[in-house]
Amino acid sequence: MIQEARIVAGFTGAGISTESGIPDFRSPNSPWLRNKPIAYELFLRSAKARREAWRRKFAMDDLYRGARPSTGHRALAALVASGRMPAVITQNIDGLHQESGLGDDQVIELHGNGTYAKCLSCGRRHELDWVRYHFDRNGEPPECMACGGILKSATISFGQAMPEEPMRRAQKLSAACDLFLVAGSSLVVYPAAAFPAFAKENGARLVIVNREPTPLDDVADLVVHAEIGEVFSEFPT
Ligand code: NAD
Repeated sequence: MIQEARIVAGFTGAGISTESGIPDFRSPNSPWLRNKPIAYELFLRSAKARREAWRRKFAMDDLYRGARPSTGHRALAALVASGRMPAVITQNIDGLHQESGLGDDQVIELHGNGTYAKCLSCGRRHELDWVRYHFDRNGEPPECMACGGILKSATISFGQAMPEEPMRRAQKLSAACDLFLVAGSSLVVYPAAAFPAFAKENGARLVIVNREPTPLDDVADLVVHAEIGEVFSEFPT
């Protein structure tokens, strides 16, 4: 199917990073479900919630610091390099697609990126080491160095609006592709999970590689219930 395709859209979820050592969201003993998520509105309203969000963020970063791209990330990077895949649409926030060699224009991040912080007022990027230095010293996250605004990890929290430009790019690629390749997503998080269904309705073939069944298995052209590393190590590029 890849060899027959003109334009392949890649679509990844937390499952592509488990072989990099980062647990996914819904599998048993998920560290992400240990605490109630801090909704965006609460983050804006409460300094205490912001402190707690940053405390959790740095604790998680310490656990998964050395994570390197997996076989799946590398196979998708090779597909992009081959010219068949313009970009990978990802729900992940770990930056591992970029680490596997993709440029920012080749990764469409629907849920943002947890490897840096952004000011919620002026949008200025801040490096996490700097935020952490101040957090560790003062017990408080610093303010934006440009405008004094609130800093937040550059991810999309529950209740926060989806980022417009990535949503537009994902929509465009889903409409243009003739093969839509899902790797490691439960396909239950919306609106992200609408893209594979949309591509299929627009005439693309839909392939899903995931350990467990997903709600879109019934409409897919090919479903592979297996480990990503095993499947992607044999990928043609
Ligand atoms: P999910 O946890 O809901 O689903 C992951 C799927 O991948 C599961 O169905 C699981 O069975 C499958 N899977 C796990 N390891 C696999 C492997 N080695 N081979 C094959 N299949 C495997 O994740 P989701 O669909 O991405 O949605 C969860 C949300 O959580 C997303 O919004 C994402 O932003 C966020 N999240 C991101 C990360 C990350 O950036 N690495 C980690 C956890 C959660």
